[in-house]
Amino acid sequence: MRVLVVDDSVIMRRIISNNLKTAGFTDIVEANNGAEAMENLSGVELILTDWNMPVMDGLSFVKEVRKNGEYSKIPIVMITTEGAKTEVMEALKSGVNNYIVKPFTPETLVEKINSTLAK
Ligand SMILES: [Mg+2]
Repeated sequence: MRVLVVDDSVIMRRIISNNLKTAGFTDIVEANNGAEAMENLSGVELILTDWNMPVMDGLSFVKEVRKNGEYSKIPIVMITTEGAKTEVMEALKSGVNNYIVKPFTPETLVEKINSTLAK
């Protein structure tokens, strides 16, 4: 399945992609921000996105995806340093399916992805 990794940090994208590869995901697409991600939704079955990014942040990106007829149902996991309860609530209200706070372990990442895809 194709996974879209959205983060403005090249290092963070590399960490997430490497964890995904270790977990058996081979079809990984990367984007630098929400706007770039919107251009790369074709065939995507899971989105992992950062919150804080230039051009289009994660929250705006989630809202754009959720109101896009063709791609509105793609499961989205937000991976971010914004771990405060109000932020988590806002993300979930905007249509995020699951939430991971940085720093995270590879085990946590895989666990959250599996539980998200199982729903
Ligand atoms: Mg960021």
